[in-house]
Amino acid sequence: MNNPKELLIKERNVSDNEIKEAFDYAIGYRAFLDNGKTEREVVSETIEILEKNGFVPFDSKKKYSTGDKIYKNNRGKALFAAVIGENNDSPKILAAHIDSPRLDLKQRPLYEEASMGYFKTHYYGGIKKYQWTAIPLALHGVIVRKNGEVINVCIGEKADEPRFTVTDLLPHLAEEQSKRPLAEGIKGEELNVLIGSLPFKTDKESEKVKLNIISLLNEKYGIDEWDLFSAELCLVPAFPSYDIGFDRSMIGAYGHDDRVCAYPSLTALLESNGKNTSILVLADKEEIGSDGNTGLAASTLEYFLCDLADTLNLKPHDFIRSIEAISSDVTAAFDPTFPDVYDKLNSAFLGKGVAVEKYTGARGKYDTSDASAEFAARIRRVLDENDISWQIAELGKVDAGGGGTVAKFLARMDMNVIDMGVPVLSMHAPFETISKFDIYSSHKAFLAFIND
Ligand code: MN
Ligand code: MN
Repeated sequence: MNNPKELLIKERNVSDNEIKEAFDYAIGYRAFLDNGKTEREVVSETIEILEKNGFVPFDSKKKYSTGDKIYKNNRGKALFAAVIGENNDSPKILAAHIDSPRLDLKQRPLYEEASMGYFKTHYYGGIKKYQWTAIPLALHGVIVRKNGEVINVCIGEKADEPRFTVTDLLPHLAEEQSKRPLAEGIKGEELNVLIGSLPFKTDKESEKVKLNIISLLNEKYGIDEWDLFSAELCLVPAFPSYDIGFDRSMIGAYGHDDRVCAYPSLTALLESNGKNTSILVLADKEEIGSDGNTGLAASTLEYFLCDLADTLNLKPHDFIRSIEAISSDVTAAFDPTFPDVYDKLNSAFLGKGVAVEKYTGARGKYDTSDASAEFAARIRRVLDENDISWQIAELGKVDAGGGGTVAKFLARMDMNVIDMGVPVLSMHAPFETISKFDIYSSHKAFLAFIND
């Protein structure tokens, strides 16, 4: 009989050197986090990294061969990249999403009330709304003029820039609010962002504060109120990543979910040994169900894979069904403050390595791709052969809730796929926490997988 502890996690002796490697690895990850808080920004910074490493834009009319490195930018919000390997018998995919929960601006966001200027928002993804009040927020995104010109917006990240905030009620007057259930502590229509309080210098107009804001936006960006319709602007937490803990073993930041899986997928691809054709997929829209033409429910990836097969003189469907994929996504780390929602035997623990989930989903395995036992065995072998710290995980107790990933969209294309990723504390909060050792273990796991 094995040590019962082995049922939970693969305990192995982690050397001081491996911890040091994990800490060094985390420096690059923190820079990646701080440079990209939206899917558009992550696509831009990833392309920069890819190009530095010799990747060029994909051309479906060309023929590619061993050693070629290409990428395809999907509408500035999602990205595919590939390294053409020595053989194409067992191509690999590492797929992660790069969108994170946040507050999107409504398409007609601007209003004035009580001599203060506000933006109305429509939250994006699964958030606990009360967590997004009374913290500094930054405005990110794009505004597109009628002539197609794209204006990039990023206000609230540099030290000398202003921030924005959603106000909450003072406790002294919150007697009624405090009786609301937690989910309604702050309601969707109460997530209004404070953006100004100075009036425009004229006597005639009403809504002078709003007018002043429009005038400032016009001065800075040359836009009018209508331009906000053709815009994608969002509010994200306006703080950078930080080391967490006296031992600095963890990182706290906005949007680990799922840049914490996108980054090790990217670094694994960059370090590929060139044996297997390996493909990086950075998807958008996962947090709202993967719908839309930058999400993985769309045909975009399938079309890309067909085009790629064509450039390699392979039959598209044979190529696609031979792919083995990792859906790299975060899972919940066991939180000892809230033990009731976890099945301890099947939980991921912070700092114990990459978490492998045979399935995700909810309500009796709905909305998931349950990896086959055969594929799970293959993954197990690769992880053990490469001496990688890994653990078996399931999101929480049966019927405590649940959540999906992009795995099912890859499975739909006839691939073998399994979920693997980094355990997170405070998932979907403005400030999430992960372990440096876990992200480094994920990098090593993804690399071992594509090199196998
Ligand atoms: Mn995720
Ligand atoms: Mn998520």
